[in-house]
Amino acid sequence: MIKKVSPHIVQNEPLIFERSSPGKRGYQLPELDVPNVDAEAALGRQNVRGEIEDFPEISEVEAIRHFTRLSTWNYAIDLGLYPLGSCTMKYNPRVNELVARIDGLAWAHPYQPEHLSQGCMEVIAALENALAVITGMDAVTLQPAAGAHGEFTGLLMIRALQEHRGNPRKKILVPDSAHGTNPATASMVGYAVENIESNDRGMVDMDRLSRHVTEDVAGLMITNPNTVGVFEQDIKRITGLLHEKGALVYMDGANMNALVGVARPSDFGIDVMHLNLHKTFSTPHGGGGPGSGAVAVRDILKPFLPGPRLKRESDRWTWDYDLPQSIGRVRSFYGNFGVLVRALAYIMAHGGDGLRRATLDALLNANYIRKKLEAHYEIAYQSPTMHECVFSDDRQARKGVRTGDIAKRLIDYGFHPYTVSFPLIVRGALMIEPTETESKRELDLFADAMISIAQEVEDNPELVLQAPHSTRTSRVDEVTAARKPILRWKSSVRSAQAAD
Ligand SMILES: *Cc1c(COP(=O)(O)O)cnc(C)c1O
Repeated sequence: MIKKVSPHIVQNEPLIFERSSPGKRGYQLPELDVPNVDAEAALGRQNVRGEIEDFPEISEVEAIRHFTRLSTWNYAIDLGLYPLGSCTMKYNPRVNELVARIDGLAWAHPYQPEHLSQGCMEVIAALENALAVITGMDAVTLQPAAGAHGEFTGLLMIRALQEHRGNPRKKILVPDSAHGTNPATASMVGYAVENIESNDRGMVDMDRLSRHVTEDVAGLMITNPNTVGVFEQDIKRITGLLHEKGALVYMDGANMNALVGVARPSDFGIDVMHLNLHKTFSTPHGGGGPGSGAVAVRDILKPFLPGPRLKRESDRWTWDYDLPQSIGRVRSFYGNFGVLVRALAYIMAHGGDGLRRATLDALLNANYIRKKLEAHYEIAYQSPTMHECVFSDDRQARKGVRTGDIAKRLIDYGFHPYTVSFPLIVRGALMIEPTETESKRELDLFADAMISIAQEVEDNPELVLQAPHSTRTSRVDEVTAARKPILRWKSSVRSAQAAD
């Protein structure tokens, strides 16, 4: 029997092209009160388009309803828990949006003269300073547009320093738990990547690591807490080992949600790191940007930072372009400024104590989820959980139900799925990050849904295997969707006709 959960009003919405009929307009123009000019005569025939092929013709209210209805099909952070791990889908307070829309900030032009841009420059300086305090590092650049871009910037600086020391070296070490961007970045910067296998506690294995650290190694890229949600307890020994051999340590700071206000990467030996401002410091993300991958460095890397750099000259800010050792620009202008404004607003609204409390609440919530679910799902590692917890589908797989099936069933319970099948080193991973803003009530609803699904797997695995049941679209053929995406209306109609 199929249990119907969370019933809602179904407003099935066709494609906008199917709503179209010739001659419908979404606008009304007043009668012409200037001389009528023939467009072809004025512009030249080749510059005038008679019609746009397949352009939908509908009324204004139809256009509004079409998009409003479609918007109700989406799950959103404003509707409920978004438990995607590794992405830190936290709630972003509205006040940050308000601040980012202040006229002087929102309308500032990057070519505006410096004396009219002092406020914006102050925002950049204040944020650089706040992030330096939070990470304990000596300098920060806000140019990179995303985490992966920050990695790229950081490794270019490592390379510049090693070259300056006389040998750029050949390899970057990357633990097997790392996010895919880490090895990709190292490879793009021209390094060979060497993979370090994790141990059974989900941490970097010191013995294996020490065998890999040679004079050929330019640096290690490490995520801490790592992508299995575990703090690398040997981190001081790890950074010590790399430094002994003249190598540097890059930290992927995507998981700073677990450290802000509690631990500073500089204190455990990190040389350079990025922060995903759009994950840890409040910018709505998930739709593809914009983001910010601020990079923080220790003093030895400061000369290599991208330029220009802010400089204080008597009573005003100015841009310093005279940076002989800089790796150069990594992005036009000064970074994604609107994201920077939101990050500074978030940091200042919380204050130091507030940021620390957010971290502790994130850890509390993740550990609460772990405790509630441990009896029903296999926890991947026995090590302490930080801000996210990773389970495997080992128990459910015995009934033929995998992590992707459980995720689909979760949709029937009104939740966005957790992260499916990542990190790759955990077979059938279920990765859950609740973040600090979720209430106990929401966490209990989520845990109850997960426990109920675990029971369904025992009693009636078919129910889970065929989920979701309460959505407009049920299972789609994901492989075909990825390999042969239908991106145009006409071809979709044609292939549907061909199938008939
Ligand atoms: C999100 C993430 C990245 C990449 O950051 P983007 O801003 O998406 O480029 C890198 N590493 C980890 C661990 C991440 O979670």
